[in-house]
Amino acid sequence: MSTHSAWRAGLRQRCPQCGHGEVFEGYLKFRDCCGACGADFGSADSGDGPAVFVILIVGAIVAPLLIVLQFGLNLPGWLALTTSMGAAVALCVTLLPVLKSLLFALQWAHNARQATVDDLE
Ligand SMILES: [Zn+2]
Repeated sequence: MSTHSAWRAGLRQRCPQCGHGEVFEGYLKFRDCCGACGADFGSADSGDGPAVFVILIVGAIVAPLLIVLQFGLNLPGWLALTTSMGAAVALCVTLLPVLKSLLFALQWAHNARQATVDDLE
């Protein structure tokens, strides 16, 4: 799979092998294998990477939003804060599965895996 195809499959939360089967069986739990091609997802582990990217992206959007709402539009503090926090939660819930699937697809495309002692030799 090319890197371009991995990006496409990852952003659509599809199997990085065939691009058809879904990678999640719940909100963030990886399936054991692809329902379309049978690819084994047992090695799927994107670690903390998706959460880090979500924090960076959402923070870059929500912090300026809060400043604009409170100081640019002169909204009351409670309203600006409530609106910004609502946006932060919505963005986090939306972006987390997408980025988790994307990082998994890129790991798959680059054959990335956990390093072992055998790799040292
Ligand atoms: Zn598949």
